[in-house]
Amino acid sequence: MALPNTSVVAVGIEPPLLTGHALEPLTLPIEAPRDALEDLAIELHAGAVAILPAARLEPALRRLHVLQSALDGRSRIACCQTELSPLAAGVLVGLAASVAPYAPSAALLADALPALEQELLVAAVLPRVLRLRKPRPPLRARLRSLLPGARFLVSPEPEPIVAPVHWRHKPPILLEDAGDEIAVVHAGRVRGVGAPAQLLAEAFGGATVEEVQAPPGLASRWRVTQAIEAVAYPTDAEAMARRVLALPATPCPWCGEPHAALPCALCGHDRDRAIATKQVLGRPEADPSVSGFAPPTQAGRPAEVTLR
Ligand SMILES: [Zn+2]
Repeated sequence: MALPNTSVVAVGIEPPLLTGHALEPLTLPIEAPRDALEDLAIELHAGAVAILPAARLEPALRRLHVLQSALDGRSRIACCQTELSPLAAGVLVGLAASVAPYAPSAALLADALPALEQELLVAAVLPRVLRLRKPRPPLRARLRSLLPGARFLVSPEPEPIVAPVHWRHKPPILLEDAGDEIAVVHAGRVRGVGAPAQLLAEAFGGATVEEVQAPPGLASRWRVTQAIEAVAYPTDAEAMARRVLALPATPCPWCGEPHAALPCALCGHDRDRAIATKQVLGRPEADPSVSGFAPPTQAGRPAEVTLR
């Protein structure tokens, strides 16, 4: 296994242990003590991707800024946020750490995160769906929520599913045949659901199901007081890295790092906007690969944060 030259920093996200993914991300808890932060600054590689939960963006950003001042420009950090539910976000940061050794730059790893999110299949077992927004439950399911003992299996994407779970009903099948290419982690509790592993294994096509510690805020994310969240993920790290990194990369004209999406996740440079600006200024003859925004010398440049 290659060693990564890009670090993944999970800010306010707790990564569970995952089958097939030995590398773990660095973690920066929002309540991290000062020396933990200093240790983290030492461990960081020259390029890093920080992943922040959209639901706790403000405190996570503040923590990241403190880390950056401790770094004093030694590492450049691409800052990305994820809308995923708490356990899924934990799986995402774990998978990102697994892709890091294969990524030519931190910018390209940041650009691969949307594809990495697509590798996950998220579901939840809920006692009621009255207040659920994503997926939006049909009226029938909302009414059923009012009955005692009601349970639902829901999945927001790719196909919104809200299905009642009952001993007489089979659970909906989210995956046909998982084989050993897919594993599932689950966390949380719902009163009356004694053996979630069995229910989830059935829904996830016979995949290996493992319980992990519940991250904070799990149930409230699903707008209930009790919830079980389950996340299916691919177990072959190398094949997954190949899939998500299959992006048309070019060196950023500003910072020189290979990247695929605009603006550059590391420095915020937007090649298209720079070209458009030049055309407005009447200098269309300029070579677009040699941008008008000349980069300053590498040394002494502070770590940039580009929030995407
Ligand atoms: Zn750049």
